[in-house]
Amino acid sequence: MVNTMSTEKAQSQQILIINSELQTNRLMNQIIQSLGFTVIVSENISNAQKYFSGKNPSLVIINELIAIQDNFSWIKTIRQRFPLLPIILYTISEQHQTLKQALRLGIDDYLSAPLTKEEIQNSIHANLLHSQNLRNYVLLESRRATKQLQARVHDLETLTDLARMVTSSLDLDHVLKTIVHAAVELTGAEEGSLLLIDEETGELYMRASRNFNEEFVSTFRMPVNDSLIGSVVKTGKVVIFDDSTPQKIKTSYLVHSLIYIPIKLKEQIIGVIGVDNRHNRMTFSQRDIGLLTTMAEYAVIAIENARLFSEVVTERTKLETIINQIEDGVLVMDNDFRILIINNLAQTVLGIQGENLIGSPIQIYPIDQEFLEIIKKFENYLGKSSEINTDDDRVFSAHLAKITGIGYAITLHDISYLKKLDRIKSDFVSTVSHDLRSPLTAILGYVDLVERAGPVQELQKNFLDRIQFSVHNITTLVDDLLNLGRIEAGFDTRKEHLDMSIYIHQSIDELNPKFLQSNMQLKINVPDSAHLIFASPIQMRQLLNNLLTNAIKYSNPGTSLTVTLQENENQIIIQISDEGYGIPAVDLPYIFDKFYRSGNVIGTEIPGSGLGLAIVKSIVESHQGRIWVDSTVGKGSTFTIVFPISD
Ligand code: ADP
Repeated sequence: MVNTMSTEKAQSQQILIINSELQTNRLMNQIIQSLGFTVIVSENISNAQKYFSGKNPSLVIINELIAIQDNFSWIKTIRQRFPLLPIILYTISEQHQTLKQALRLGIDDYLSAPLTKEEIQNSIHANLLHSQNLRNYVLLESRRATKQLQARVHDLETLTDLARMVTSSLDLDHVLKTIVHAAVELTGAEEGSLLLIDEETGELYMRASRNFNEEFVSTFRMPVNDSLIGSVVKTGKVVIFDDSTPQKIKTSYLVHSLIYIPIKLKEQIIGVIGVDNRHNRMTFSQRDIGLLTTMAEYAVIAIENARLFSEVVTERTKLETIINQIEDGVLVMDNDFRILIINNLAQTVLGIQGENLIGSPIQIYPIDQEFLEIIKKFENYLGKSSEINTDDDRVFSAHLAKITGIGYAITLHDISYLKKLDRIKSDFVSTVSHDLRSPLTAILGYVDLVERAGPVQELQKNFLDRIQFSVHNITTLVDDLLNLGRIEAGFDTRKEHLDMSIYIHQSIDELNPKFLQSNMQLKINVPDSAHLIFASPIQMRQLLNNLLTNAIKYSNPGTSLTVTLQENENQIIIQISDEGYGIPAVDLPYIFDKFYRSGNVIGTEIPGSGLGLAIVKSIVESHQGRIWVDSTVGKGSTFTIVFPISD
C-alpha cells in the first residue's frame, strides 16, 4: 500500500502499543516512528488505561497474550467506548481459535511474527483509513439526521405559530387561508385547498386556497357523490395517491400526487383539506398526512371558534335590542364601575353620552352630583331606591343591586306619573291644612276673647281650656301634615355638604326656652365641627327638632338629656338619649309609622299627632342613613341616627 499520509498528520496521531516484550516493543517503536507516527508503549492493560483520559490514541496494537490473560475484556470495553478506534492484535501463535475470537470481539486486524516494516505500515494505514472512512460516514449521517431534525423543528414551529393564531384570531377567512398556506409550505406541495360542505346544497365549495386561480376558487362546486373528494367526506378516510396511480379528479385537472384529509367536527365530516402537485412528480409521505391531519384539526377549532363567537355576537345583539327596547333604564358596571351595559334611556337620564362607552369608567362622565354620590357609596345604597331628577322634569327611581361575579346594576324606572299623583295629593293636603289654619286661629282668638268679654264660671273655664287644648292639637297635626306633605312631595330636598355639629348646637339653642321650662339637664357631647354629610339643611333642622322635642315631651321635668355626635371611618353617629318614660317594647316596631302613638301617651294629655317620627324616618331614608331606638319603660330612650360622611 502506498503511504499517502503526510508526516505532519501522522505525527499528530498516536499509536498505542500494549506489549511486555522489550525487543518487540523496540522494533515496533522504531518502525512506527519511522512511518512518522508518535508511539506510546504500555506494558500492561492497567497502564494503557491512562492514555484514554485526554487525547486518545488513533490506533492500538495489543499483544495476544495480554488480551488472552485479560480474557479479552479490555478489548470489549474499549470497543464499546470507541467503536471507531482500530485495534490490531499482535499474535505470535497465530492460533485460529484465538484469532476467530478476537475478530468476533471487534478486532480490526492482526500482525504476526516476524514483524516487517511493510506489514506494519500496511496494517496501520489500512486501518486508519478505514476508521477515517467510518468517521466520515457517521458525520454525514448525523448531518442528515440534524437536517431532518431541523425540518421537523421547522414543522413544529410553523404548527405552534398556527395554533397560536387559530386560538387568538377570530377572522375565520384569514385563519383558514393561513392554514392552507402552511399546509402547502410544509408539505412542499404546489397547491392546496380547504373545502367545506354547503349546508343548503350539500355540495363542496372552496373556503380557502393556495395557488388556485381566483375565478376557479369562486366558482368551484363539487357534488359529494361520484368524486374523489366526496369519497373522503363519505368514508371519513384519508386519500393519498401519487404518480403510480394518476387520476383525473372531477375538477378537470390532472394531478401527479395528492392528499385529502377529512375535516371532522364531533364525528361529523364538514369538509376536506388537501394538497396536490400538478407538475412536480413529488410524492407525499406519512409525515405529510400527519401534518395535514393537524391542519384539519386547526381548521375545526377555527371554524368552531368563529361559530361560537358569532353566536355570542348574535346573543349580545339580541340582549342589546331587548335592553334598549325595555322601558326602564339599565346600567351594568363591573366592580371598578366600568360600564358593561347601558341602554339609551339610562344614557339620557344619567347624562352619559359619547362613543365607546363600554369599558370606560363611569366617573369620567359629567354625571349629576347626587348620582355621583350614589356611585361612591354604592354599598350603602344596595337594595334601596333613590330618586334621580332629569333636566326635563322627569323623576326616576334608581334601584341598585349587586350582581355576584359581575359588579353592580342600576335600573331606572320612570316614576314621574306617581310623583305627579303624589304632588296632587300633597297639594290637596297642604291646601286643606293651610285652609284649616285660619279658622283654627280664629277659634283660638275667640276662645281668648270669651274670657275677656266677661267672667266665666269654673266649668265654662274648664270647657274653654279643653277647646284651647284640642285646637292646639289640631294645629300641631295640621303643621305635621304640612311638613310631611312637603317632605313626601320632595320639597326642601336641595342638599349640600353640611356640618351636623353646627346644626345640633343651633337646634339646642332654638329649643332653649323649652329646656328651661322643663328644667332639663343638658349634656352635650358634640364637637365644634365634624365631617360633612351631604344633606338637606331644612330637613336636618326638622329632624333634630322633632327628636329633641319628643325627648322633652316624654320626660319628667328635671331629668337629663344627652346629645352626642361621634364619627367613625365613613359615618357620623348622632344619639339623643333621655331619661323619660321610655317606650313599651310592643310599640317599638311601630313608632316610626304614621299616626302611631305609643302606649306611654295613653291616658296622658301630652299632645301629638303621631307624625313626628314618621317625618324623621323619611328624612333619614332620603339621606341613605339609618335610625333605630333603644328604650326601656321607666328608664328612658335613646334614638341613634347614622349618616354616611360625604367625600
Ligand atoms: P307624637 O306626635 O305622638 O310625638 P311621634 O311620631 O313623634 O308622634 O312619636 C310617636 C310616639 O312615640 C309618641 O306618641 C310616643 O308615644 C313615642 N315616643 C316618641 N319619642 C319618645 C321618647 N323620646 N320617649 C318616649 N316615647 C317616645
